[in-house]
Amino acid sequence: MKAISLLLPLLALAPLFAARAEDPATNAPARFPGDGFELRAYQDAAQSIPPEIFSVPNDGRRPDAPAGGAFRASCNAFLVIEGDRRILVDAGNGAPRGTLLAQLRADGIDPATVTDVLLTHEHRDHVGGLFRADGAPAFPNATLHLWWPTNVAGRAAFEARHAAFRLDLFADATSATNLPAGFAAEPAPGHTPQHCFYRKGGMLFVGDVFHAVDLQIPEPWFCAKWDQDPHAAVAVRKATIQRVWTNAPKKKDGVVTVVSPIVFHPPLFLCGAHIPFPGIISTIRQPAPRYGEPTSWEIPAPGTPVPPDPDAPAPDKDGVRIEVRRKTAPATP
Ligand SMILES: [Zn+2]
Repeated sequence: MKAISLLLPLLALAPLFAARAEDPATNAPARFPGDGFELRAYQDAAQSIPPEIFSVPNDGRRPDAPAGGAFRASCNAFLVIEGDRRILVDAGNGAPRGTLLAQLRADGIDPATVTDVLLTHEHRDHVGGLFRADGAPAFPNATLHLWWPTNVAGRAAFEARHAAFRLDLFADATSATNLPAGFAAEPAPGHTPQHCFYRKGGMLFVGDVFHAVDLQIPEPWFCAKWDQDPHAAVAVRKATIQRVWTNAPKKKDGVVTVVSPIVFHPPLFLCGAHIPFPGIISTIRQPAPRYGEPTSWEIPAPGTPVPPDPDAPAPDKDGVRIEVRRKTAPATP
């Protein structure tokens, strides 16, 4: 009886906590099968971001408030399992906000078996989860990989703070040679001077290139106040969108609209730390504005296979050919 009476006041408080934006995440891990590997997405923490955080670098313009008052976001981490390698991309917030460690355990992943952590940058919501609440390393057998250009200060302090780990701090992101399982790094500075992408086949881990996709895909010039070099961040964001956009013909109400020239980039999983869970978008459709269709994008459902490497030669799609014919004005009599 005593135990029940102690529990009651806690239960009464539960709805209060449920309403907080920083509530522990409840989304179950999402799994995506790949060719010889598996991708899993975890929501470390729920997140939504108010419009005051965003502005356009040149003119200070702020976005309109979205329905509900804040942009939907998330704080995600990803795990790639290939053979005996278990590779985390970013490590979340850590205690008390982050739930990654508990979720990994519940998902059958012993944190001691994580072999590598690829860090997109050194912000708290990406590196905080490297340590447990008691200060011990959360992934005691992992090598940390992080781009550290020679002109960026603070390397010695980072090394001292992470002395419990094996460290692979590479000075040149285009030639990082110690990454596991065929991963490659790509420099993507702007959000921070050492913000970097990781690429493996049809997956591109884009860190903090997006904080609010609903705002920044249609209008990539909006920067969160956390983008240290906003102009560089905008350039990286636009280039990232360009890698997956298409205006390929789409049938709508029985009518196929062809915008010339047709641009089609094969699907690529853009895996982002703050993209709404499961944190992945693939093809982005940008129809010509004159057709009045809004920009849209695809969020792959759990279980969707990771697309093949878009750089690999495309399989021969025999018999499928799209012809673009210019409409000529009828001759006037
Ligand atoms: Zn972040």
